[in-house]
Amino acid sequence: MDNENKKKICILGSTGSIGTQALEVIGAHPDLFEAYVLTAGRNADLLIRQARRFQPAAVVIADETKYAEVREALADLPVQVYCGEEALCQVCQMEPVDVVLTALVGFAGLRPTVAAIKARKTIALANKETLVVAGELVTRLCLENRVAVLPVDSEHSAIFQSLMGEEDNAIEKIILTASGGPFRTFSPEQMQTVTAAQALRHPNWDMGAKITIDSASMMNKGFEVIEARWLFDVEPERIQVVVHPQSILHSAVEFEDGAVVGQMGMPDMKIPIQLALSYPKRLKSDFPRVDWYRLGQMTFEEPDLKRFPCLAQAYRAIAMGGGAPCVLNAANEVVNLAFREGRCRFLQMADVISECLSRMPRLDAPTLEDYLALDRDTRQLATSLL
Ligand code: NDP
Repeated sequence: MDNENKKKICILGSTGSIGTQALEVIGAHPDLFEAYVLTAGRNADLLIRQARRFQPAAVVIADETKYAEVREALADLPVQVYCGEEALCQVCQMEPVDVVLTALVGFAGLRPTVAAIKARKTIALANKETLVVAGELVTRLCLENRVAVLPVDSEHSAIFQSLMGEEDNAIEKIILTASGGPFRTFSPEQMQTVTAAQALRHPNWDMGAKITIDSASMMNKGFEVIEARWLFDVEPERIQVVVHPQSILHSAVEFEDGAVVGQMGMPDMKIPIQLALSYPKRLKSDFPRVDWYRLGQMTFEEPDLKRFPCLAQAYRAIAMGGGAPCVLNAANEVVNLAFREGRCRFLQMADVISECLSRMPRLDAPTLEDYLALDRDTRQLATSLL
């Protein structure tokens, strides 16, 4: 394929877990994909190495104090170097960009994603917080701008794959699988004293620190219920979370005739990342395959909302609606970081989130500005509660 026809990808968060794996996929298919824009938060070293290897048209380092370092290191290359939050919004609107992969973490993903949608770029969505915070607004913008959102999250990619060719058939139920994380079998007493180091050892997935903690608390699954609701236009009551510790069935859809269609594979994020970039084609890969004889069994359980109160808080925010999921997300970002830094106990995270949901004002149909204000105010409240 000549340069003109390659898909030009803007990776928001190229230095993270999803971002680096996306670059592996792009690197394996230089004839199909071009890393056109790369962006990092603070990791200037890795961004510089990635830029030298992939020679993108532009890079952004969000942390402005690192700008001079990146600019000087890339001075001999034809790479435009920008910094700051505003630049993130601008680069994803660059004319040649075809696909924006939103692989940055947290609320920081919202504004660039909205900017990319307004510029009518296809979105490969990893940054689930965007849909958690502002699912209604983002979905409406996608419809208005006729923008496709291709899920990168493994569960949502599985649901998406289960729905291929089923456009005219109604969904009865979504079966959203969860590994259960490292504390799946812990007693309530054991949960009192778990540490960040324990929580960061996920049994099946190697991910960034924030989502690994969210997986341990199962807040991640609550977020994914919200994400699925907006991506697939299904009421939350019809999304059933099922704990499946082997992480082989990545999720499934039950149709009105009782048939269940799911997608299976090894827990390897490169599979859904590659599909989001190559869709509608599947590309040949050498990613690890399931060894069915060694796997032996696949098991399924009901999640325990008492032992995983963060998941219960997510359900509460879903029922409250309006701005509540934004409050849920902001409070969670504060306690998640505090837990990693040893300033908050594991079970205390849900208490702070609960308090924020109770105390923050209820907002119906918030605008982008409302979300920005609600996020800021909730962070202040959550910080003061710690
Ligand atoms: P990482 O923490 O590994 O990477 C986050 C990326 O975002 C890094 O490139 C980081 O830059 C950048 N970043 C962080 N804060 C900012 C900011 N304020 N402004 C600009 N850039 C920023 O996260 P993951 O890759 O694990 O996750 C990314 C997203 O994908 C999350 O929303 C997560 O929920 C979702 N996801 C991840 C999965 C996984 O397997 N990792 C699976 C499914 C979904 P730097 O490091 O340079 O500071």
